[in-house]
Formats: sequence, structure tokens, C-alpha cells
Amino acid sequence: MNNKIRVRIAPSPTGFMHIGTARTALFNWMFAKQHNGAFLLRIEDTDKDRSKKEFEDDIIKNLAWLGLEHDEFYRQSEHIENHTVNLKKLLDSNKAFWCAHTIKELEIEAEQQRAAKEPPRHICEHRDIGRTDGIIRLRNDATDSIVINDMIRGDITYDPRLFGDISLAKNISEPLYNFVVTVDDFDAKISHVIRGEDHITNTPKQILIGRALGFSEPMWAHLPLLLAKDRTKLSKRNGGLSVGDCRESGYIREAIINFIALLGWHPKDEIGEVLDLETITKEFDITRAQRGGAIVDTEKLDWLNREHIKRLPPDEQIKIAEPFISADLKKQIESRVDKYISAVMPRITKLTEINAAIKSIIDIPEYNADLLLWKGKIDRIKAKEILESILSDITDIETADVSLASLIKKEGTGPVLWPLRVSLSGNAISPSPYELLYALGLDEARARVRIAISKLDA
Ligand code: GLU
Repeated sequence: MNNKIRVRIAPSPTGFMHIGTARTALFNWMFAKQHNGAFLLRIEDTDKDRSKKEFEDDIIKNLAWLGLEHDEFYRQSEHIENHTVNLKKLLDSNKAFWCAHTIKELEIEAEQQRAAKEPPRHICEHRDIGRTDGIIRLRNDATDSIVINDMIRGDITYDPRLFGDISLAKNISEPLYNFVVTVDDFDAKISHVIRGEDHITNTPKQILIGRALGFSEPMWAHLPLLLAKDRTKLSKRNGGLSVGDCRESGYIREAIINFIALLGWHPKDEIGEVLDLETITKEFDITRAQRGGAIVDTEKLDWLNREHIKRLPPDEQIKIAEPFISADLKKQIESRVDKYISAVMPRITKLTEINAAIKSIIDIPEYNADLLLWKGKIDRIKAKEILESILSDITDIETADVSLASLIKKEGTGPVLWPLRVSLSGNAISPSPYELLYALGLDEARARVRIAISKLDA
């Protein structure tokens, strides 16, 4: 493996993995694959109060489920000693210092700066007095502009004086986000940092910290923010889905991958939008990611889910649908589970709909005999004649299509398939008669056709 390209995702295990993290993971994973590089998963668990094992497990499980396997795994908390070594290095070389200002004092200072229309920042008076209490800050004397050379956004320029003396750690063994990320990225030889735009203002701080430590700088790419349909910030209520919820509500991995790939990137028009991971990875170009916010539209996810379900091979459809079928229903349909699944799958949006869809075939509704008359173009006598021919012709489900074909040839498609479908489903809208025959089996199908005939007689 070419270790030159090394990328990572660095989720904090403070909540269930949401689609934003999955999107960042996918873009990094594809970038690694395209360059024969490595994709690292780093769990940023230094915030002990908020980090939970349950969330870490959720991230690992969902990444694996999506097929975005990592090549290397780190837990940030396991590298604390290295963080401390680097903090000491900065303190010893006088590039960092202890700041003992209280939170209250810092708040008052920020308030005054705001009132004077200055950017809030703390340029500390404790820089040179050699205290050993409080928090650790980076001495920030930089004056030259910092330019982030972003692969998506081009050059983004910051005035380093805006940041004041950047906080690095609560104490020698409790480093803070910007410091740990910088140390860990360097340590893991990360070549490209690809992450959400919400981190963009952290980047110049991380550049300054990296420079103080003498680190080489990675390349940067900031992915567009995810927005709700009304272009407001995404939250749980307006599309901020967790991957686990998506999975449990019956979205399949192919659809989720396709959906998140399109959150900030678009393939060339000619290849369409329904794409598998292999094609997406082939077509993807990070430099062509969009800059403006990407809208999370769950209707699009529904559409992609339907399309991807339809594209699955039949045995794969059965495999993914089966776990969604309730134990009661399984008992009821026993050996016909597979057949029912195949019958309803083309009409399913989410796998959670499968129970209701199967039940709607099993529990045939009461219907009026007139529904059997195709577009009103056949009368009761004709409908009965056709259904009776069907009864005598179909003696084996496997050959039903052949038997029906000759009847269709004689009577036409609508006059044959419409009354058959209504007899089998009791509905104007349902799976096709072939699928229904297959799902119900010969005995049940014949029983239903007989009922239809008796309705026409009444
Ligand atoms: N831990 C950060 C987060 O979960 C990500 C840090 C990064 O990608 O640099 O938002």
C-alpha cells in the first residue's frame, strides 16, 4: 500500500453516528481508495464526560455496515502520553505558557472587546511570568496571513491576530481539541484532512499549533455543511438522521451510500444518479465537491431506496427483507416467506413496510364484483368465463405464465390479467398477478378465483 495518502475520520463518540459523519467517512474512504492510500478511524474520546463506549460501538458497527472499512484504528485517549510530551515541548521552548485567568475574567474581557467592536480573543499577560497553574496556551505572535489551501474552496486567508493565544490544554494531561487533533494527525502521518466545513475556523489554529511544533502541514478539504430542506441547520427533527435509525427503518446500505455521496458532490450528468459504491468511487473527484450547503432531502433517500431495492438480485432481496418480518407473520406464511417477499419488494420504499405489504396480500379486502370488470369493457359473463378458464388452465404455479399466455393471446391482456389480479388481491392496485400467484400458491389462488366467480354469479 502506498502510505503517502493517509486520511482519517475523527468522530467524537458523544452521540449516535449521523449521516454527516457517514458522508465525511465516505469521502475520505473514496479518496483513500482512489489513491491506494489508507483510511484511518480515530475515535476522539478525550472528552471523558461526554464520550461513551456505546457511541463508539455504534460508529464502528455502522461504518462496517456501510462497507467503509478502516485500515487503521486509534483511540485518542490511548495517546495521552504523546500529547503530554508535545505539550511539554512547547512549554519548555517557551512557545506555550500557563494562563491563570479565570473564566469570569475571560468573559469580562470578551464582553469589553465585543462592546469595542473588536474580535474577542485573549492575548495573555501571563505569557512571561512563569506560572504553573491555569490552562496551557500557545503564544501566538504570528502576524503574517495564514492561507488555507483548500482542495474544494481554494485559498482561504485568515489574520492570525484574530485568534489571540490559542488554548491548548486544561492541564498537562488534559489536552483540548485543536491541540490533540494537530498532534494526532501528524503522528498518524495524515496527508489530507477532509472534514466538514464546521471545522474551517479550527484549521488556522491547527496550522499555528502545527507550525509551533515543527510539523509538516497536511492538505485540507472542507466539505459543505448539511442543511435541512428549508436551508436551516440540520437537526434531529428535520432530516438529521442517524445511520442506525436509517438502518432500522429499512433503508438499505446501497441507498444510504448513494444518498450521502450526493450530499456535496454530483457525478457527470450522463451517468445518472442511481449509483453503486464502485461507480461512485470511480467517478468521485474531491476537487469537484460543491462549496454551498448540501440539502438533506429524505424524499430523495426514499426514492434511492426504492431504486436500489429494485436493483438487488432476488436472493439478496429476500436476505435483507427477512429480518424485518415479524415472528407472527413468519409463522403464518411459513414456507412461503420468500415468495411473499419477492411479490411485495418492487413496491416497497422502506423494508419496515414489508409486514403491512404482505398482510395486505394475505388479508384480502371485501370488494365489489364490478371491480373485476376490466375498465368496464368486459361484462360479468365474460369475466366469469375468463376466470373459469384460468381455473381449469392453471394447475401448476411454475407454468402459470405459459397457461396464461395462451389465454391472453385469445382474449387480450387486460381482460385476462385484470380480473385475475383483482380476484387475487381484492384491490385495484396491487402487485402483478404473476407475483400474487407465486406468493399465494396454487390452493389459495384457486380459492380466491372461486370466490370471485361466486361474486359474479350473485
Ligand atoms: N472530533 C471532531 C468531530 O467529531 C472531528 C475532528 C476533525 O475531523 O478534525 O467533529
